[in-house]
Amino acid sequence: MLDVKKIRQDFPIYETNQDLVYLDTAASSLKPKQVIDVVDHYYSKLGVNVHRGVYGLSYEATDLYESARHTVAKFLNAKFEEIVFTRGTTASLNLVASSYLDKMTEEDEIITSELEHHSSMLPWLHVSKKTKAKLKYVELDTEGRITVEAFKKVLSDKTKVVALTYVSNVMGYITPIKEIIDLAHQKGAIVVVDAAQAAPHMKIDVTALNADFLAFSGHKLCGPTGIGVLYGKRHLLNQMDPIEFGGDMSQTVDKFEATWKDAPYRFEAGTPIISGAIGLARALDYITSIGFDAIHEHVKTLHDYAIHKLEEVKGIEIYNKTAETGIVTFNVVDVHPHDAASIFDKNKVCIRAGHHCAQPITKWLKQIATLRATFYIYNTKEDVDVFVDSVKEAVRFFGAF
Ligand code: PMP
Repeated sequence: MLDVKKIRQDFPIYETNQDLVYLDTAASSLKPKQVIDVVDHYYSKLGVNVHRGVYGLSYEATDLYESARHTVAKFLNAKFEEIVFTRGTTASLNLVASSYLDKMTEEDEIITSELEHHSSMLPWLHVSKKTKAKLKYVELDTEGRITVEAFKKVLSDKTKVVALTYVSNVMGYITPIKEIIDLAHQKGAIVVVDAAQAAPHMKIDVTALNADFLAFSGHKLCGPTGIGVLYGKRHLLNQMDPIEFGGDMSQTVDKFEATWKDAPYRFEAGTPIISGAIGLARALDYITSIGFDAIHEHVKTLHDYAIHKLEEVKGIEIYNKTAETGIVTFNVVDVHPHDAASIFDKNKVCIRAGHHCAQPITKWLKQIATLRATFYIYNTKEDVDVFVDSVKEAVRFFGAF
């Protein structure tokens, strides 16, 4: 069981906002002092560039930056050279898709789903428009889940890329990604996994999954903003052209010719996100030391408690009662989520209102927008109580019941 009281002491925001009810971790998590401290240490004690400096401070910064890559590799059970630091999940997924622009033809097919965040489906929509490759959608089941059976129906000998979310940011469901990867590989397709919502909640072993590419962001798992990861199988990364050109990514440069370094460096042109990588590594150590079993149990308990209490509230509609990862997506009947959101804001309850950058699933739910509350390691049952009271107040205020 998590000692939430102790965990909350790690998050300085609660010192200045004692009555804060933060239920928007799926958008971005709060940041613990352990992460803030290492970022502060880099800026106050080092603050210099990596790789190129021939002096002690730069060696030290380089060591911290590259050992952060080791930490990420260990976190994912990947190899050091398979970890590319990026700006975040969006940048990682776009990097892969961009490099497939010249690898696809109208003979090829791409499989994605309506459950995707825009950053997982839009890059492939773009590739499909540019190359005429056919974009196919896995049909969701009645709950809105991706199933292996539905995936089999769209998989074909022409499938070249499968781009799917591991955990949906609207529904909180876990995709049976391992089975999907195995099936896709039988057809020679590669699988790009959006793990932005999975990485904060579950142990990811890219080797056991046999994923070809996998992306996540630092800021959703207690790390800094502006840093993320693209994992890619080494041979696949080295087959990809860089999409940014500049310092530190080339092997040799002449006036009319240049060669690129091997991955990961060919994809890290320019001064990298040094403090971000250092902070991310500390964040991964932080959540690993808490343990994914404990995180899952805590989040699930809060989720089930919230659903149990919300089921007694008349005038709301919950869209994902069986979610595994602490996401409650709902609406107050006949009330626009942005109107309802004003009540939550007044009560210092931070939740999300909108389409959550996932319009296809919002449309699938036959909504224009939804409200979303998400739970993480620093949330308590008292947070859930305040949240549910706010839901009741919104129902009363807007006269839904
Ligand atoms: N995929 C999913 C499932 C997400 O929830 C998010 C963030 N909401 C992203 C991708 C994009 O992440 P980022 O904004 O950090 O690039």
